Amino acid sequence: MFGKGLLTGMGVTIKHFFGKKETFCYPEEKLPVAEGFRGGNLAMDWRVCIACQLCAMACPNKALELKVVTDAKKKRHMEHYVHKTGRCLFCNLCVEACPVHTLKWDKDFAFSSWSKTAMTHDAVSDADRADLKELLADIASKAEAEAKAAAQAKQQADTKGGEA
Ligand code: SF4
Ligand code: SF4
Repeated sequence: MFGKGLLTGMGVTIKHFFGKKETFCYPEEKLPVAEGFRGGNLAMDWRVCIACQLCAMACPNKALELKVVTDAKKKRHMEHYVHKTGRCLFCNLCVEACPVHTLKWDKDFAFSSWSKTAMTHDAVSDADRADLKELLADIASKAEAEAKAAAQAKQQADTKGGEA
């Protein structure tokens, strides 16, 4: 009886040892999550975002703190997109409100923290902000050049009008 039980047990062990692995080496490997999973931080592309702030207006718990800048041609850009995960209900209303579909969940569920106040994430990275700064400077210099050209054209037109 003892021998049969041992053999059965060993059989089960050997079958699972060589069978398909059902476990993950967490945290190095992460369990794949479902398509509609709402979790982790909010991610967005500042180049696609139109800085309308509809996401923040839709948020029932004031979990989004945004900072918008306006360029020399009056176009708005997102400079800071802070998601306070400690306040977030993961209701998805912000994602649904985004008219350009740039807002998504990064699905990185392992973001536990000891402090609620530390649970914030800026979806605009420092590298993104450096690119934005460059873009704003470029637009400002183009706008200045256009304004100068327009002023010169006006001056020439005025001079011609005066001579006639
Ligand atoms: S998921 Fe809900 S609570 Fe969280 S930031 Fe979006 S709208 Fe606000
Ligand atoms: S709703 Fe979308 S486009 Fe508008 S500010 Fe939010 S992320 Fe940007």
